[in-house]
Amino acid sequence: MDIGSRPRLKSRNKIKFEGAEQYPHVLQFYSCPPIETISLQEFEEFAVERLKVLKACESAGIKHIRGTEAYTELMIKEIRKTKFKGKENVTQEDIYCRRIDHISHFILRLAYCRSEELRRWFLQQELDLFRFRFQNESIHGSEEFLKLNNLDYSPIPREEKEKISGELAHSICSGQVSTLDFFKVYFTDALDLVKSRKVFLKDGYAYVVREDLISILLSVYRAKLSRALSQTARALPHLEEDDRLLPMLCGLSKRYLGQDYTNKKPAAGQITADMIDTLSKKSFPLCMQHLHQTLKREHHLKHGGRMQYGLFLKGIGVSLEEAMKFWKSEFMKLIDGDKFDKQYSYNIRHNYGKEGKRADYTPYSCMKIIMSNAPGPGDTHGCPFRHFDPELLKQKLKSNGLGKDALEEVIATTKKGHYQVACSKYFEYIHGGIALDSDIQTFQHPNQYFEESQKRVSGEKGKKLFRSNNTLHCCNISLV
Ligand code: SF4
Repeated sequence: MDIGSRPRLKSRNKIKFEGAEQYPHVLQFYSCPPIETISLQEFEEFAVERLKVLKACESAGIKHIRGTEAYTELMIKEIRKTKFKGKENVTQEDIYCRRIDHISHFILRLAYCRSEELRRWFLQQELDLFRFRFQNESIHGSEEFLKLNNLDYSPIPREEKEKISGELAHSICSGQVSTLDFFKVYFTDALDLVKSRKVFLKDGYAYVVREDLISILLSVYRAKLSRALSQTARALPHLEEDDRLLPMLCGLSKRYLGQDYTNKKPAAGQITADMIDTLSKKSFPLCMQHLHQTLKREHHLKHGGRMQYGLFLKGIGVSLEEAMKFWKSEFMKLIDGDKFDKQYSYNIRHNYGKEGKRADYTPYSCMKIIMSNAPGPGDTHGCPFRHFDPELLKQKLKSNGLGKDALEEVIATTKKGHYQVACSKYFEYIHGGIALDSDIQTFQHPNQYFEESQKRVSGEKGKKLFRSNNTLHCCNISLV
C-alpha cells in the first residue's frame, strides 16, 4: 500500500465502480493486502473507523453473551454508526464501504502486530466481528462466501442424509434432521466440533450442521490471521524508515475515540478552587480521587500526578486562576510562595497553553492513563483498577461504600483485565445501582465519568431502574 500525500476522494466514484470485482462479498478473509495509493488523511480515517468497530465488539462481548439478542442488538446498533454496514444487494456506496473494510483491516494489522498483548486483542475482536457478520448473512450470502474462498462445503444430498439420519439425530442438540442442512467436511477441518462431540464422524468426514459452520470458518480465519500478524511484526522494522506513519501507528492502540474535553464547556459551570474537595468525594473517578487525597495528605504530587490531575481539573472547568489558587494553597502547607512560583506555576500555566509552545493540552483518556507511563515507586498517577495492588484496591473500594457482592464483581472484572468496565461497574454501584446509558457502555475518559456523575447529582438522571443482586428495583438516587 502506498501512502500519498494528498486525499484522493475525488476518485471515489471510479473506485466504487471498479471495486465491484475486487470486493465481490461483504465478508473477507483479507488474504491480499491493498495495493492502491491512499492519502495519509484516509489512512488515519480508515484506521479510526475500524477501531470504533473493534471497540464496539469488545464492549458488546464484555456486556453480553455472544449470540444473545442483547449482544446482536448492540452490535447492529454500533456497526450502523460506522462505514462497516453492508448488504447483499450491492450499491456503489457498499463497494466503497468494503474497500474501507479491506484497507482498514491491514492498517490495524500494522498497528496491532507489535506485541503479544496487542495481537491477542486484535485477533479476538476481528474473530468476534467476523462471527457476528457471518451469522447475520443470509443462506445465499454465506454459501457465496464459502465458494469465493474455495471452502468447498455444500449441503449433503437428501438421500445421503436419510441413510444416516439416525446418527445425525444423535449429534444435534435441537431441531429435526429432515429440516437441517448438513455439510460433509474433513474431520481435521472441524477439530473444535469433534472435541466438543458436536458432530457425527464417518470415514474421516465430520457432518456439520449449518449453524456450526462458523466454528470451522473461525479456525481457518484464526490460523490465517495469527500467521499474518507474526509476518507483519517481522516486516515492521522496514516501516521505521517512514517517520510519518510510525507515530500514527504507535498511537492507534491508545487512541481515544470519544469526546474532546480540552475546551469543553463544563456542564457543572465554572468550578472554583474551594469546590474541588466536595466534588472529589461525589463525582471524581477513583484515579482522580486518589490523586486528590494524596495531594491533601502530602501537600505535594510528583510530576506524573500533577499532569494527570491538573489536566483533569482543567477539563471539568477549573480556570487557570482557580487552578493556581488550588495548587498553591496545598503546596504552601509545605513550601513558601516564592518556591511555588519558581518551581510549579510554570507547569500549571503550561497545561493551559500559556507557556512553551502554547499548546492547549488535552486531559488524559483512560486508555492513555492505563497504557502509558506506568507509575513507579512513590508515584500516584495511573488507574487504580490497572495499577493498584489488589488488596489496596479492595480497601479503597470498601472504604468508598461498596458492599460484598459489588466488591467481588468489581474485583473479578479487574482481574480479567477489563479495567474500564470495572470502573463503570463501580460507578453504577456508588450511584445507587443505576445502570449506565447504553450509549456509554463503559467509561473511556475520567472527564466523562465526572460529567455523568454530575448529571445524576443534579437530578437529570435521578430515577431509573437499577440492578442489584440481579434484581430490578426502582430508586431515587441520593449521593453523599
Ligand atoms: S478507568 Fe479511567 S476513569 Fe476509571 S479509574 Fe481508570 S483511568 Fe480513571
